Amino acid sequence: MEEKIKGFLDLVKERNGHESEFIQAVEEVAETVIPYIVKHDIYHGKNILLRMVEPERAISFRVNWVDDHGEIQVNRGYRIQMNSAIGPYKGGLRFHPTVNMSILKFLAFEQVFKNSLTTLPMGGGKGGSDFDPKGKSDNEIMRFCHAFMSELFRHIGPNTDIPAGDIGVGGREIGFLFGMYKKLKNEFTGVLTGKGMTWGGSLIRPEATGYGNVYFAEKMLQTKGDSFKGKTVVISGSGNVAQYAAEKTIQLGGKVVTLSDSSGYILDHEGIDTDKLAFVMELKNIKRGRISEYTKVYPNAKFVANKTPWEVKCEVALPCATQNELNEHDAEMLLKNGCICVSEGANMPSTKDAITKFHEAQILFAPGKASNAGGVATSGLEMTQNSLRYNWSREEVDEKLKDIMSNIHDACIEYGKDEKTGYIDYVKGANIAGFVKVADAMLAQGVV
Ligand code: NDP
Repeated sequence: MEEKIKGFLDLVKERNGHESEFIQAVEEVAETVIPYIVKHDIYHGKNILLRMVEPERAISFRVNWVDDHGEIQVNRGYRIQMNSAIGPYKGGLRFHPTVNMSILKFLAFEQVFKNSLTTLPMGGGKGGSDFDPKGKSDNEIMRFCHAFMSELFRHIGPNTDIPAGDIGVGGREIGFLFGMYKKLKNEFTGVLTGKGMTWGGSLIRPEATGYGNVYFAEKMLQTKGDSFKGKTVVISGSGNVAQYAAEKTIQLGGKVVTLSDSSGYILDHEGIDTDKLAFVMELKNIKRGRISEYTKVYPNAKFVANKTPWEVKCEVALPCATQNELNEHDAEMLLKNGCICVSEGANMPSTKDAITKFHEAQILFAPGKASNAGGVATSGLEMTQNSLRYNWSREEVDEKLKDIMSNIHDACIEYGKDEKTGYIDYVKGANIAGFVKVADAMLAQGVV
């Protein structure tokens, strides 16, 4: 088995040698899915995983735009259309200076499994740009988004590829992107998700990734007869996912003591309550400030510069910032401090070695492709409402989100529970459950 996995990974490395994040994501899947393929004859001789690691299409394009000083700026835009076996491509757009093919291919690959897990008919894709939104004026953001869409519109559509937000792309950016798409195509369709409520958006979509992550973590805790009530919770990030993970944690009786951004983290031993969280939301979403400013208003809290919050004692950790933000050393600290549950809000925030530590310690650990799938699932619900030209109530969408997270949890148990020890390997469970549906569709559709 070891040799089979190594042979496959060697081939992937040979073809994608410089793409370290993509290879990391493929390794995690290959190690759990290849043993499953070996045990199931229908997948033999079909090169199914090799087909899944090759994007159906990878588009790279130039984005020219003019800044507030009249200077012409040039950025790179991308869209990876990874797999459309079970539905149109679906996945977010990321605007961040680190964006490159490797990061987008890893995100698109993960998205294929995640979208399959939601049980909704969505293929996987991802896109974005190396554009840095930090410090840009609203007008610059608008001009960039319009320029970006003036090429992307050719490649997407409500039945082809439906982008959404990700790091650096929130409601403001989706608005500008949608406006340009509508102008160029002269049609009002559900081509993007995360839209505003007056023009085709869904209630609960902004909350969905963070809420869904906490619903999933609560399900994991329930397998131990436990819950969020009274738990100290450490959260990284202070963007969309982190904010709503914090909100739901507070609602379920947990005590959130940290939030962070790329400059460091804030520690508030008294707990970040609803009022303090409202301050953070205004600071980050409207004033576009830094998390360190929290301590000016709440002086009992402290700001720890250039560090991640994993050194803080907690029972539950929710990494909600970015990939590879939690390494082996961080995992050791969390375990030493008594952490019993790690549920990923971000995509691939834990390194491979960190995950190994969590598995060795047999704590509850959920990979993002399962625990953060609530965001794309609710995007799927937004697409359904757009097709029906109808809006569901907040309660209806929230109920559907809870059901989907619960079903994903069940699927992880079905494929990830060790019958002898009873330990649930959520990584294995999510990978195999996600794989089966996509692989079966690919087999049915032949070699295309
Ligand atoms: P936002 O842009 O709203 O927030 C990102 C947060 O992460 C910010 O606090 C940002 O800090 C921090 N961050 C970004 N890069 C780094 C870094 N290199 N080091 C430390 N902190 C960093 O993005 P989202 O909340 O939407 O996304 C967060 C994560 O969740 C990503 O991994 C994304 O792929 C994933 N995700 C998002 C979904 C969604 O619906 N939005 C769905 C599923 C997954 P700073 O401001 O300093 O950059």
